[in-house]
Amino acid sequence: MKYNQTVEYAINNKIIESGDIFVYEDLPNERFYEEVYNFCSKNLEIQQVDGLLSTSLFLYYNYYSKNANAGIKKEHNVILINIGLMRNCFERFLYNVELNDYTERKWKKITDSFNTSVSHLAFQINTHFTYYHELAHLFQMSNKRSEIGLQERGSDGIYNIIQHKLEINADTFAAICIATQIQQYIETCFAEIDQYIVTNTITIFSACLLEHIICFSDSFKLYYDEKSHPHSVIRMFNIILNLTNHLSSNPKYIKKGINIEINFLFRKILDFHAELEKNGIFTSGFSDFVNSKMLDNDRILKHFKEIKELDKSDGYIDAMDVWNSRV
Ligand SMILES: [Zn+2]
Repeated sequence: MKYNQTVEYAINNKIIESGDIFVYEDLPNERFYEEVYNFCSKNLEIQQVDGLLSTSLFLYYNYYSKNANAGIKKEHNVILINIGLMRNCFERFLYNVELNDYTERKWKKITDSFNTSVSHLAFQINTHFTYYHELAHLFQMSNKRSEIGLQERGSDGIYNIIQHKLEINADTFAAICIATQIQQYIETCFAEIDQYIVTNTITIFSACLLEHIICFSDSFKLYYDEKSHPHSVIRMFNIILNLTNHLSSNPKYIKKGINIEINFLFRKILDFHAELEKNGIFTSGFSDFVNSKMLDNDRILKHFKEIKELDKSDGYIDAMDVWNSRV
């Protein structure tokens, strides 16, 4: 379905109020809204054809907060991405010309082989990541019958360990999807790959994803067993770990002698992100936080272990189990 058909369908079936739906037709960023819509709606179709989801819709939500949403409404799975989040991705990534200039100067041999600009690729990776995260939420609730909505960045401060577990699980799923996308992209752009191409391409995209995730938090004041959603820094840690872990086990890389050492790559991503901040290209302030030595890796890893070992799930399913059930 084209976007206007999806909008019409959602309104006719009373799934969402017409005033809540954002219509991008004839607007300056129409092309990019359309591009993301096409990617997400096609991907949702694949999940339906494969029997992993029932009827599912992707729409833009007419709200300005940097947020996204997945839920079940009138027996339809719905993913909503706020225009506030899209605008943030336009400004920070798509129209970040300095990001292109800087990466082209640093890794010309690599960026010359890309089929579009780094800023455009960063925009795609970050919007796709958000989509995959919401898709994971739909998988998690795939055996739920009643209407259900999950608001990201919940405003209430009440600690909910199940919600933390679901968020970390959705991020893990999305990180693996993005890792796969990066792998495919490298295969498309380079006839021959080597250690230099693979590690630096991963570094460029991962640093952009890091900046995207970090921007979901207003403060670097870390917390663990608090609030409804996990802190962005904790989320970022889990995402980059899963992304690098997945890429390091790629049989093609191993066969070619390309060695992706997780700790080395993790450090390289943080260093490149810090370099971009130092040059005013990214502005989250994360590198200052890293330099302040307040990042307690051991505490974060202990937290992941606690969440992973929690056997209570309130009827939600692990998104990875749904994904792996595909025949
Ligand atoms: Zn979420």
